[in-house]
Amino acid sequence: MIRISPEVKTMAASTIETRRDFHRNPELGFQESRTAGIVAKRLAELGYAVRTGLGKTGVTGLLKCGKPGKTVLLRADIDALPINEQAEVPWKSQSAGVMHACGHDAHTAMGLSAAAALAKMAPRLAGNIFFVFQPAEELLIGAEAMLRDGALEGVQADAMFAVHLMNRFPAGTIAVKSGAVMTSADKLELAVIGCGGHGANPHHAVDPVVAAGHIITALQTIVSRETPPLQTAVLSLTTLKAGTAFNIIPDTVEMTGTFRCFDAQLRETLLTSLRRTAEGVAASLRCTAQVKNTFLTPAVLNDPTVSDLARTVASEIVGEGQVIDPEPLTGSDDVAYFWQNAPGCYAFIGSANPEWPHAPAGHNAKFDIDESSLEVGTEFLVQSARKILGG
Ligand SMILES: [Zn+2]
Ligand SMILES: [Zn+2]
Repeated sequence: MIRISPEVKTMAASTIETRRDFHRNPELGFQESRTAGIVAKRLAELGYAVRTGLGKTGVTGLLKCGKPGKTVLLRADIDALPINEQAEVPWKSQSAGVMHACGHDAHTAMGLSAAAALAKMAPRLAGNIFFVFQPAEELLIGAEAMLRDGALEGVQADAMFAVHLMNRFPAGTIAVKSGAVMTSADKLELAVIGCGGHGANPHHAVDPVVAAGHIITALQTIVSRETPPLQTAVLSLTTLKAGTAFNIIPDTVEMTGTFRCFDAQLRETLLTSLRRTAEGVAASLRCTAQVKNTFLTPAVLNDPTVSDLARTVASEIVGEGQVIDPEPLTGSDDVAYFWQNAPGCYAFIGSANPEWPHAPAGHNAKFDIDESSLEVGTEFLVQSARKILGG
């Protein structure tokens, strides 16, 4: 039995309509001008003090309640992905090659409905309600851009909450845990440099293709041999570019990849190992390797006290048996930059329709959700905020 407050229940249909509108009109990171425009307009109509253009297309809204008190921050991400939608739904994306395949359309809609419900409750609450609608989460650079533009200036949050829909869990469940939830993320760029020549005369060249092959293999030991077995790290090389013709040994091979980790110290250690391994293997084969890592986001670490509160809220909404204690994920979310400013809790809202034989995962071109998850997610945001604001 799912318990939804009347303030959220009355908006169930409009939340779904809003989500479908965003789904039809997806926008990539830092290009969310239509989405941000709708968000800013709705927040202003509800009485929020709105700021726009934070981190290019980010929006914030601040509402003071009836009495002074604590400040709660609720964050939603608003961007879509460069995917051509293949889900046959009436609200299919109208932008070729762009799709809300991660549910951020729903996050934005839930955020707006939560803003409306909390505005109704505000006269009898104490403190401040602060909404953050963040661009470019998929690029893992939107949160930092907003903070650089002063999104939190004058705002000292006492607690922060964010939700992400998750098709791994059925609709009607909420997954919440304290501690490490999502990994840090680094982008890796490797260049292996040799000396090109004729494919028939390798002895007159220095072949970076063979060196790159050895480097790819050797890098598999970073996780298997250098990571403590009970700790987590992921190293995936995902692009590989070399050569122009079958009979030419190229000068260089370029690779990119991603590195994920929970522990900041382990991250430093393994990145040093990665560099040593790539450079050493390259040198043994007469090549040189250049390794560049770009730190995108820290790990998402949920605060124990705020997460306990969120767990209580979750069980009040969906019932104790439907609250899931999830495994940490090796995905990342740059909400972590906000969490560095105040205790936060990032929770997952189950969004798979239990009757579907297979619910496509996020980032799949057929991604779809059970829209009953929207009122659960909205209610979770609203009730979490209420607990902080003494409602
Ligand atoms: Zn995503
Ligand atoms: Zn996402």
